[in-house]
Amino acid sequence: MDDHNHHTGQPRGPERMSRRAILTAGAGLAATQIIPGGTAGAQEPKKDPPAAKGPFPARAYAATKADAPLGPLKIERRAVGPHDVLLDVLYCGVCHSDIHQARDEWAEWGPTTYPCVPGHEIIGRVAAVGEKVTKFKVGDVGGVGCMVDSCRTCDPCRSDREQNCEKGATFTYNAPDKHGPAKVTYGGYSDKIVATEHFVIRIPPGADLAATAPLLCAGITTFSPMQHWKLKGGQKVGVIGLGGLGHLAVKLAVARKADVTVFTTSPGKVKDAVRLGAKDAVLSTDADAMKRLANTFDLLISTAPKAYPMGPFVNALKAGGTLVNVGAMEELKGVTGINLIYARKSVAGSMIGGIAETQEVIDYCAARGITADVELIAPEDINKAFDRVVKKDVRYRFVIDMAKLK
Ligand code: NAP
Ligand code: ZN
Ligand code: ZN
Repeated sequence: MDDHNHHTGQPRGPERMSRRAILTAGAGLAATQIIPGGTAGAQEPKKDPPAAKGPFPARAYAATKADAPLGPLKIERRAVGPHDVLLDVLYCGVCHSDIHQARDEWAEWGPTTYPCVPGHEIIGRVAAVGEKVTKFKVGDVGGVGCMVDSCRTCDPCRSDREQNCEKGATFTYNAPDKHGPAKVTYGGYSDKIVATEHFVIRIPPGADLAATAPLLCAGITTFSPMQHWKLKGGQKVGVIGLGGLGHLAVKLAVARKADVTVFTTSPGKVKDAVRLGAKDAVLSTDADAMKRLANTFDLLISTAPKAYPMGPFVNALKAGGTLVNVGAMEELKGVTGINLIYARKSVAGSMIGGIAETQEVIDYCAARGITADVELIAPEDINKAFDRVVKKDVRYRFVIDMAKLK
């Protein structure tokens, strides 16, 4: 990941960043306050866009309380600072986390501040850049995933694991926003977003933008454990839950030539699992199938959004195997000491991935033509989409066409 950093030219500390930005930007660019949209490269007199002066208005879809449907809301975005990028949002994926947060289902460890603007699979067109930005120019396509900031100086931040920042990463929505103008960050169910360039991902030219957006959360969240636990060709991996995360887990594991089994609770998804590249698909309620699969998996990735009895899955691990839970936040069920001790099995967790690794999965997928299976929706369809995700009726990611925001 180190050379990735060098490759992107992203320096690590904020201090080094500004020195470098000045060096690479040159006098002409450094003198420009902001490069407004539409005037890139033009010789016309420079006018400050509204974004340069102070907070500016944006439109969004928001939840105003846990049990209310989402509706349109006017919000404010912060002025574009020297290291900031302003994106005109084109597409935003709908993650199950958006639903948990909007409905305050994580009250225990992350209560929701309302209004809540979800969305952390964001792709947009760069409309303005701050004077010190080197990674983007106006007109480029950029992506924002689950984080928009972190301290950039602690050990995890310096080792490209901003998601584990010791001071707490600033998540894309519902996180205390040190920049303002609102108390908490507002996500991508909006026509505009401003973020520090380090947290904006480059989207390779030619990418299918709507189908690439889900890689920014669902993709990185399933890619990262495959990297960390070094999933190799020929190994057996199981994906538990075939939704947004699960279907990308299948594609990413197939790309590594792993032997993939899908565990689903939906009989109607068995065929799809095979179409997506899985060798096998089993109903997790099928006790005989679960017995047959005992001691076979090197790695299991659990994407189910709620805790369920994990005993049969721990049994399905090979000696030394690991079940990585990325879905359920609450107390896990059915994991007994003896089942782990006897064959040195592990139950682990993993949260999204760092910025360098997020860039890596975007580039990796672009090079291999891997995208999400998406159903494009208009912003006003968001409440129906939420309900369908909860009913396990999404094939396999809803993506909001933000250009249709009225
Ligand atoms: P999703 O699209 O709803 O997919 C989850 C799938 O899990 C469903 O399609 C369903 O698949 C299965 N499932 C649903 N309810 C279940 C239940 N009660 N018991 C067992 N299986 C169930 O959701 P997603 O967007 O992929 O997100 C999955 C979870 O990961 C969410 O809780 C989300 O908050 C979390 N998440 C975590 C991270 C992280 O960094 N760790 C990142 C993103 C999301 P079948 O029909 O095949 O059974
Ligand atoms: Zn997500
Ligand atoms: Zn940090």
